[in-house]
Amino acid sequence: MKVLIVEDEYDIAANIGDYLESHGHVPDYAYDGVGGLHLALTEHYDAIVLDVMLPRMNGLRFCENLRQESVHTPVLMLTARDTLEDKLAGFSVGTDDYLVKPFALQELYVRLEALIRRHQPEHMASKVLKIADLELNPATHQASRAGQALKLNPVGLKLLKLLMEASPNTVSRSILEQSLWQEAPPESDALRSHLYALRQVVDKPFEHALIHTVHGIGYRLVAPESHAA
Ligand code: CA
Repeated sequence: MKVLIVEDEYDIAANIGDYLESHGHVPDYAYDGVGGLHLALTEHYDAIVLDVMLPRMNGLRFCENLRQESVHTPVLMLTARDTLEDKLAGFSVGTDDYLVKPFALQELYVRLEALIRRHQPEHMASKVLKIADLELNPATHQASRAGQALKLNPVGLKLLKLLMEASPNTVSRSILEQSLWQEAPPESDALRSHLYALRQVVDKPFEHALIHTVHGIGYRLVAPESHAA
């Protein structure tokens, strides 16, 4: 399992990382909120260990931004104080669990394992989606076309999954927006720009486009031969 550790205290980050590594996990590190958020949005992690007090962006803002981008990676938050307000603040921005510093590494490990397990049924139920030469494995978050790996961010992966699951049907803009951002799309053109980015990766390098705009309605993803009709 891949775990992102966002913690500005190097010793604590290294201790957590070493402990996780010795239990077979693969740790990755960020030492401030902005760098951590960038990693969390561009790479796939099974869980995130997040300190609250961080330079450049605190843990609460980090979590809020992460959830706004529709990334649901489980987050274990590290707080310095055990107050109800801190706890509530953490949960209201989408934290899954929290630990008060100082903590035992073993406890952190047990809680992380529980978080990862809780998020798994969704993954295990999914199977590989395949349309023409395009493949997506929702469990491993790997996409490929014509045997070439496609590099997609979490929003791109989610969009691709929605379109592939619905294929050959059209998915309306509002369904896509709701699935990605629930009631609150970040801005009116966000979907359009995410679709543009997705097409740059999935369609542009290849001869036939699979993603099609259905004007006034939404988008559909179909094999070239079924689109020709
Ligand atoms: Ca800190």
